[in-house]
Amino acid sequence: MRRVSVFGATGSIGESTFDLLMRQGGPTAFRTVALTGGRNVARLAEQARALRAEIAVTAHEDCLTDLRAALAGSGIAAAAGAQALIEAADRPADWVMSAIVGAAGLAPGFRALRHGGTLALANKESLVTAGPLLMAEAARHGARILPVDSEHSAVFQALVGEDMAAVERIIITASGGAFRDWPLERLAHATVAEASSHPNWAMGQRITIDSASMFNKALEVIETKEFFGIDPDRIEVLVHPESLVHALVGFRDGALMAHLGAPDMRHAIGYALNWPDRRDLPVARLDLAAIGALTFRAPDLTRFPALRLARAVMATGGTAGAAFNAAKEAALDAFIAGQIGFLDMARVVEAVLAEMSSAGGLGNAAISLDNVMATDAEARDRVQARVRTGRI
Ligand code: NDP
Repeated sequence: MRRVSVFGATGSIGESTFDLLMRQGGPTAFRTVALTGGRNVARLAEQARALRAEIAVTAHEDCLTDLRAALAGSGIAAAAGAQALIEAADRPADWVMSAIVGAAGLAPGFRALRHGGTLALANKESLVTAGPLLMAEAARHGARILPVDSEHSAVFQALVGEDMAAVERIIITASGGAFRDWPLERLAHATVAEASSHPNWAMGQRITIDSASMFNKALEVIETKEFFGIDPDRIEVLVHPESLVHALVGFRDGALMAHLGAPDMRHAIGYALNWPDRRDLPVARLDLAAIGALTFRAPDLTRFPALRLARAVMATGGTAGAAFNAAKEAALDAFIAGQIGFLDMARVVEAVLAEMSSAGGLGNAAISLDNVMATDAEARDRVQARVRTGRI
């Protein structure tokens, strides 16, 4: 029986993964090793009971008593804290879903590669912050990383049977998020509630706001470079409001292979779960005649500077991705807390990147887990200091 673990089981991706595991037989088809979550321990315990997991882990030590109470009588072990997440990743599994949000997802996913199984990677932050490390670790242990981000799953599928040498460009699409058509002046006053509602996708709050600011797409451009090993100049972003074409691969003979599907993450998750096979998935089938038209346009880098920053990060290399992601996460925290405005997020990230680059650190730094963690902490501190003192 296939052994599976889900990191970030209680989140948006985690719930979709749970749904598919249950539909595909639940505890009769999978041996669930570890399920992890954050504060939602009641739901974590429900999932652990339904899948008969060996262990349920909450990231927060102050949630352990509640988790234990919710699991009472089930025989399922409970644990809490960052070290417990690593220990959960040390339990051998054949298929691991990495769906913790943010840089916190890096360490458990990295550790899980040691078993040489499959890491289904939703946590794009892992590739943005430590792409070369993650890919090398996978190669060292004979592990396979399968992308779960819809765009990257789409590219991966378009590349089946193809030679990367024949690839001219990769185009990832962007819905444009909640503020696709908002003028710059209005963006300055955008609220957290407005940024938290996506026109096409139902996702966690943080990635939804990152979609509105295009920071999500910026992370995905870097993710594309790290995962497919393609030159940044050959990665394009195309705004596609309908979110039905997820990505396109352009080949040297001029052919463009597009991947289309309903905006439902269970497609990409199910593909990674069943790879290399395809199984029936509970996703809507597209009726293109009813849809009628698909539209595309170039992204506006003035209103959405995050895409420009991603290019600078790739050009700098080293630990610039770790600084970029951490600064973005800290800026997002400050926006959600009402401390800074929507447009301030990109401003403060750019300022901190410039500061850290001119201090000579980023581009020349060797990428190691320690360096990535130290850079991450420094970038967060710098953003928080600027927010505190109003130096945006
Ligand atoms: P959610 O916010 O919905 O869920 C995040 C999960 O991580 C929850 O289980 C949460 O626990 C847990 N968690 C939160 N903070 C921590 C922490 N510090 N340490 C350990 N666990 C923590 O996120 P999403 O599911 O939306 O996104 C997960 C990842 O997948 C992200 O990297 C995102 O970029 C990526 N992704 C998401 C897509 C989507 O459609 N949602 C699409 C493509 C990629 P709890 O809720 O119990 O507190």
